[in-house]
Amino acid sequence: MRDPVLSLAAGMLALWLGTAIGTGAETVRSQRFAAQTPAEARQWQARARETLVRLMMGGARPAPVPLGAKLLGHEQPAGRPFHLEEWSIQTLADRRAHAWVAIPKARLRKAPGVLALHGHGGSGEQVIRGESFYWYGPKLAELGCVVIAPDIGQHTLQHTNWSLMGERTWDTLCCLDYLVSRPEVDPDRLAVAGLSLGGETAMYVAALDTRVQAACSSGWLTTIQNMKRNHCPCWHFPGLESHFDFADVFACVAPRPIVFEIGEKERAPGGFPLDIARGAFAEVQAAYGVFGAATNAVLAVHPGGHVFHGERFWSLLQTVFGPP
Ligand SMILES: [Zn+2]
Repeated sequence: MRDPVLSLAAGMLALWLGTAIGTGAETVRSQRFAAQTPAEARQWQARARETLVRLMMGGARPAPVPLGAKLLGHEQPAGRPFHLEEWSIQTLADRRAHAWVAIPKARLRKAPGVLALHGHGGSGEQVIRGESFYWYGPKLAELGCVVIAPDIGQHTLQHTNWSLMGERTWDTLCCLDYLVSRPEVDPDRLAVAGLSLGGETAMYVAALDTRVQAACSSGWLTTIQNMKRNHCPCWHFPGLESHFDFADVFACVAPRPIVFEIGEKERAPGGFPLDIARGAFAEVQAAYGVFGAATNAVLAVHPGGHVFHGERFWSLLQTVFGPP
């Protein structure tokens, strides 16, 4: 069982570490992407994934546990072409994730499966119901995808040798395992999309799990230096900036198609401004270029602020997956 006092102490330590490290020296980036050929790039990706897992998830890839999925509820939202289910999923021997699933009613064949991830302060339920900023949950289900939306916003660290982003990402990866286990889902057509913290988690999920064939990271593409300015430090974990910047994590996704969304009204501090995103995007696109796939990375600039836009991602899904 989770010890609430220990968890609180660990959570505070994580936040303190983030703040303390975040004000430290300039980054080293010892594993910066610098490959020149596809073979070198794949070798670099394998090593980068290992490093990320080690830093984020307690030193080594966690041992998989049976999903132990428990149905908590189901409903038919009025006037919607999908039904909803609420699930609890085992992610570690002592940990469970909570997630909502939307299943389109009309299906001619197995459907694409999409992880739809909420932002800081949001919830999986808001995504699946299309509340607040999260209209993309129902939209994806209306497009014919089976959608899973886990809760990933917790700020209480359960395992002291993990990081918050490690626990959030691992829960999300286990939700992908669950999605693949559903008979309605085509395991060869999997995607991830999210806004803000959801865009950050989408980055780690797509980087670490090559089953993900298309991604949309909205309101997130940025640098570590920008995140040190007036953001909640839950993005940070020891060792991140001495090895990587976020462009390197995204380089692990290459050459799989990805859309980055940034709003023209984003501002620093506290936001995800376009000029910083353009610099990071140039690095990501160069990594895609090594695979001869520079056009698979798309920066979709929209006129809004810190919101999910969707347009380029819907067309990407159509291109990569075909009709649902
Ligand atoms: Zn936070």
